[in-house]
Amino acid sequence: MAFLSRGGKRAFRLLSDLGKGVWREMDIRVGDRLQMKKKHPCGSFEFVVLRAGMDFKIQCTGCGRVVELPRSKCEKNIKKLFPLPREEGAPGGL
Ligand SMILES: [Zn+2]
Repeated sequence: MAFLSRGGKRAFRLLSDLGKGVWREMDIRVGDRLQMKKKHPCGSFEFVVLRAGMDFKIQCTGCGRVVELPRSKCEKNIKKLFPLPREEGAPGGL
């Protein structure tokens, strides 16, 4: 069984490349919005996180299509993270 957890160091390097100091680590949770580097074929750059685990499930806000991809691949494509406000966020909001 070849189980490798790749992408950890790469994720940190990506973050320092961004240089914004906004996140120290990728803390992506369900309900967060992601702005991706590559746009979806429909033209939208924004996705909503439906599942955040080893694999991510994200939904395009433009066309509603759901995409599933490995965490490392997802993190590489993230340009910006818009966290869902936790304090006021109603659990049934999404
Ligand atoms: Zn789309």
